[in-house]
Amino acid sequence: MKKTRLSFSSLSKDPNPGESGSARLTVPIGKQTDREHKNVERAGDRKRPMKSSTYQYSKKRFGQGGRSRSFDAKNQYKNTSSGKNANIPPPAPGIIRVIPLGGVEEIGKNMTAIEIGEDIIVIDAGMHFSNEATPGVDYVIPNTTYLEERKDKIRALIITHGHLDHIGGVPLVLSRIGNPPVYSRNLSILMMRKRQAEFPHLPAMKENIVEKDSIITCGKIKIKFFGVTHTIPDSMGIIVETEHGWIVTPGDYKLDQVDGIVSVEEEKEYAIFDKAKVLLLMTDSTNIENEGFSLPEIKVHQGLESLIKKINGRIIIAAFASHITRLAHVVKFAESLGRKIVLDGRSMKTNIEVAIEAGLFAPKKGTIIPIEEANNYPPNKVVILMTGAQGEEFASLNRAANKTHTKFLLHKGDTIILSASIIPGNERAVEKMKDGLTRQGARIISYRTAGEDFVHATGHGNQEDVKWLHRKTHPKFFIPIHGNHYRLVLHKELAVELGMPEENVVVPDNGSIIEISPDGQKITVRKEKAPSGIMMVDGVSISDTQDVVIRDRVMLAQDGMFVIIALVDQKTGKLKKSPDLISRGFVYLKENQELLRQVRIMIKKGVEDRAIKNLTRTTDGGPVDFDYIKKDLGESISKFLYQKTEKRPLVIPVILSV
Ligand SMILES: [Zn+2]
Ligand SMILES: [Zn+2]
Repeated sequence: MKKTRLSFSSLSKDPNPGESGSARLTVPIGKQTDREHKNVERAGDRKRPMKSSTYQYSKKRFGQGGRSRSFDAKNQYKNTSSGKNANIPPPAPGIIRVIPLGGVEEIGKNMTAIEIGEDIIVIDAGMHFSNEATPGVDYVIPNTTYLEERKDKIRALIITHGHLDHIGGVPLVLSRIGNPPVYSRNLSILMMRKRQAEFPHLPAMKENIVEKDSIITCGKIKIKFFGVTHTIPDSMGIIVETEHGWIVTPGDYKLDQVDGIVSVEEEKEYAIFDKAKVLLLMTDSTNIENEGFSLPEIKVHQGLESLIKKINGRIIIAAFASHITRLAHVVKFAESLGRKIVLDGRSMKTNIEVAIEAGLFAPKKGTIIPIEEANNYPPNKVVILMTGAQGEEFASLNRAANKTHTKFLLHKGDTIILSASIIPGNERAVEKMKDGLTRQGARIISYRTAGEDFVHATGHGNQEDVKWLHRKTHPKFFIPIHGNHYRLVLHKELAVELGMPEENVVVPDNGSIIEISPDGQKITVRKEKAPSGIMMVDGVSISDTQDVVIRDRVMLAQDGMFVIIALVDQKTGKLKKSPDLISRGFVYLKENQELLRQVRIMIKKGVEDRAIKNLTRTTDGGPVDFDYIKKDLGESISKFLYQKTEKRPLVIPVILSV
């Protein structure tokens, strides 16, 4: 039988309904930014709408808004806008201020601000996708409050490269910080343009294409660039000139090396540091746990080439759409063997489109074919590039695996190459997807099973790459960025191991205000912090005050909800009818009649006792304090439900007076 959601009134009707009070209610849940303002829609003039609040029983602190543990761990979900400005004075003359606003308590949403005198420049404005701590949220961007309050000082947003953890927040961040000019290399600007097009209501981006040997001046700050190796072309490092030396950040990078021998081109690119005085280095900590050098991308290109040559059937390669260098190489190589290429998945199509637009490669007309035409060619004449190597629910490969792909069917004899590592947390999704793929007779070659033929390499430097960079740039001070706290600490240890005094390293949090003294001799962290609460983009709203919404979502997911609707006679203080009860994701009402009977008794007694007591007190006939009654009721019912079921549903009491 098909399950349908019952309407409010049809649920848990009391077997002996008293007076029919067909109150129509709307209790919106989940979209408010403030639970105190969830209104019950007015249901006719006679009824006084009451504010609705939620209650959840918690062991520690019983009562309203019981906190779920995941939100206690750190205050990052607190509404930080209340601490606006927090009396952070402008930097004193000669001070160099550096504020990592994102990317130092996570991998993703990178953003760093540098403030010198009257000028602020911002480096990167990334995003990260929501995780189990932010259910239902589209994505998260860095907190821009500090910058919003100093808009007129911002001279530039400079982007290191076109990955989403560096550009994903650009449109929304720009609109919040006064739309300063944006500087980056060609491909990154093209990627940003695509992203900006998704927000047609926002002002146009003031784009400036720079090359790696360009020099720009932002206010009084002079900025230079250098090219770095990463998985996307046109990645660049940034050099900010100060009177005490350079501030250097390479963005994401790995070294172009084989067996530890760094290529001539790479050596040339970094030669600018040989005689330079580097004041401060800020660099990537993503792979700080990995020993040795990172696997060179060239080995992956060779591995994929050898597989494409060897495999005689149809080949499906699933990869990160952001690995443009690799994808471009595969397209070129497959074309050279006379294979047709199919691009499947939105980001795959967009990114290849951008790469072609940027002139990175130019496939012949007819090489890239629509997926519908794949079957018009023999299997060994086709290579399909798909999104979904992480088992993402709606990505192409997963649709193929669970047979919901509308335009594509797997055949026996197909080979699937998973040209990606599994991001921690996605393991189960990937396993399930692999099951689906093999059930349809496909063979899978993954990162793990590859013998000689490498099918994936990281885009970030391992320990030896990192050490090389430290030695090459020989900075006075160091701030590890791009990584969770423990990664930053490991990176600090590595720097100290290389000879840097401990007091010259700062391990930041998001919002840490770091200052280099006017004589360039000391690095310290101010006691005030820039606001760092996460900014959630949720549907059409963007806010750092949605902690309540997210907390409710987590609770709802864990223990469901329980709604109580009681109709009270304002004159007598008696219930007009037996209360309506609604349970979602908590207990199945039909099988818990005894529990419900007890709850109804509690409600009746709780409401009537208090309402009558209250009535006798209000001699002037003023309204009964239903807010108080509701609070009391919410607390006692959530406690009772916990005692009986060991579940902590979100309890929503609604009391209507007639
Ligand atoms: Zn990157
Ligand atoms: Zn990155």
